[in-house]
This record gives sequence, C-alpha cells and structure tokens, in this order.
Amino acid sequence: MRTVDPRTLVAELCRQFYHLGWCTGTGGGMSIREGDRIYMAPSGVQKERIQPEDVFVLDRDGEVVERPADPTLRVSECLPLFYNAYRMRDAGAVLHSHSRHAVLATLLSTDAFRVRHLEMVKGLRAKGWHDRVAVPIIENTAHECDLTDRMAEAMRAQPDVDAVLVRRHGVYVWGPTWQKAKTQAEVYDWLFAMAADMRRCGLDPESTAEPNG
Ligand code: ZN
Repeated sequence: MRTVDPRTLVAELCRQFYHLGWCTGTGGGMSIREGDRIYMAPSGVQKERIQPEDVFVLDRDGEVVERPADPTLRVSECLPLFYNAYRMRDAGAVLHSHSRHAVLATLLSTDAFRVRHLEMVKGLRAKGWHDRVAVPIIENTAHECDLTDRMAEAMRAQPDVDAVLVRRHGVYVWGPTWQKAKTQAEVYDWLFAMAADMRRCGLDPESTAEPNG
C-alpha cells in the first residue's frame, strides 16, 4: 500500500467524507495519529477544499506544534473529544461525522443505538454475527468542547465500542489505524441507515424474527 503524508490523508479523507454527507456545512472533523504526532483538520472551513498545508500538527498533550501558514485557520473544535480516543483508547485516527443517518439514529433510540443480526456488524472490532451492537448516545451541548466529559464517561461504560453518538448532532468514531477508523465509520453509518429503513418498514432492528410475509 502506498505511503501517504498524513496531512495529505487528512485532506483526502475530509473530501471523501464531504461527499458522503458527513461534513457538509463545514461540520464534522478528522484527525490521524502517526507516532506521537496528531494531524488535525481545521475548524469551520469547507472540508472538501482543505489542502495538506491547512492541517494542524499536535503533540500527545494536545499542544499545537505546527500550525498552517494561513493565520485565519483555527484548530478543530473537536480537539478535546478526539483526544478522548487518543488518550483512553490509543486510537490511530478519530473522525467526527454530522451524517443524517447518525443524527436520525439518535432520534430513534433513547440511551443507545442497538442492532443485531446484520452481516455488516462483522466490520466492527470484536463483533460477530451473534453479537449485539449498542452505541451509547450522549446528550448534546451548546458548545462542542463541553461534550468531552460525557463522551469519556460513555467510553468508560462501553469499552468494547469504538463510537459515541451525540443526540441531534452526529457521531465520533475511532480505530487503531485510519483505515480501521474509516471502515468502522462506514459500517456504523450503514447500520444507522439500515436501522432507520427497517423501522420505516415496521421492522425492529433488534429482533431476529424471521419474515412472516
Ligand atoms: Zn459536530
């Protein structure tokens, strides 16, 4: 597999996620860790137009060690939330999506989004056909950084889950590498969309009952 500069990767992935509807309207965010350096997209910009030189570089303590030449760029407001996954899970990448599917999932469930017996579940860490998926949902706050403690609490309560949903807002997903973070984010998004479709058809995403038609 080709080796890509992490700044280029952050810009490329932001563009891909924009076209998936995950970071329209400047929302969402993306960061990748390589060794002790974390590469993070800037805040409040057109995510599909980010260039490699617009990416911030931070150390493990969350201090910016290299900032873009453009003085108008600010580091992502998701910074403390991303660091939850870097500190608590030793993540290799973390992304934040404002996907419509994720937001809808938070409105169709109370404390957690639950689903099971769907083949795509196997794309999640340590999950097989018979396992239930339960992604915790935390309540939103007026300012994104104020979600940090709630997210950390949810992560402590669910050590086998690599995602946290935020009500009426979106989802944070991480993984040990950027590839695994991306894969899991795609799987979760698929599950969120599928569960909503099942409900529209009057089906319970948690039920394993056979079709009766
Ligand atoms: Zn957000």
